[in-house]
Amino acid sequence: MLMKKTEYPSVLRDLVAQLRHMPGVGPRSAERIALWIVQARGDQPEQIARAISETRRGIHPCKLCGYFTTNELCDICSDSSRAVELLCVVEQPTDILPLEKTGAFRGRYHSLGGRISPLDHIGPEDLRIKELLDRTEKEKFSEIIFALAADVEGEATTNYLVDLLKNKGVALTRIARGLPAGAALESADDLTLQQAMSGRTKL
Ligand SMILES: [Zn+2]
Repeated sequence: MLMKKTEYPSVLRDLVAQLRHMPGVGPRSAERIALWIVQARGDQPEQIARAISETRRGIHPCKLCGYFTTNELCDICSDSSRAVELLCVVEQPTDILPLEKTGAFRGRYHSLGGRISPLDHIGPEDLRIKELLDRTEKEKFSEIIFALAADVEGEATTNYLVDLLKNKGVALTRIARGLPAGAALESADDLTLQQAMSGRTKL
């Protein structure tokens, strides 16, 4: 008779499978985390579960810029001490914090939610471009700074937007090169980003 192979109970195996969906969690880490969850003495796992559902429920994109907030508008958009005439366009909401940390920019942001990428079937209509045009009409910026990645798709997206915005009476600039081509904004170091923002060039 064939011996049945011993495995963890199925709920535990399901938990491991779920954890493996998390970024950076491989099979071994997933198993370690799952075993920690079932063996933890305190209620830390429950606290984590609660934090996950509360964050999922409470955090959504800012209506204006797309950054994370629990309110209608994020802290940046509702900060009246910031320069209202400067707008910085980024690909992702996660690009905003690295730029904020440099302290080189005190205007507002607009996250597109991605970039035009035919290979991934992402077209202009999938991005927050209409929102950008609406804001340009309403908020009367004097300068729009493009801070998209310096790779082919980032460039194509910047060019597309420049075409849409070039006759609207607003100065269009881009952050300086120095960012490694293909690198995401969020992986650039503070100094590089600060120099890129300070040395922006006209489009
Ligand atoms: Zn906002």
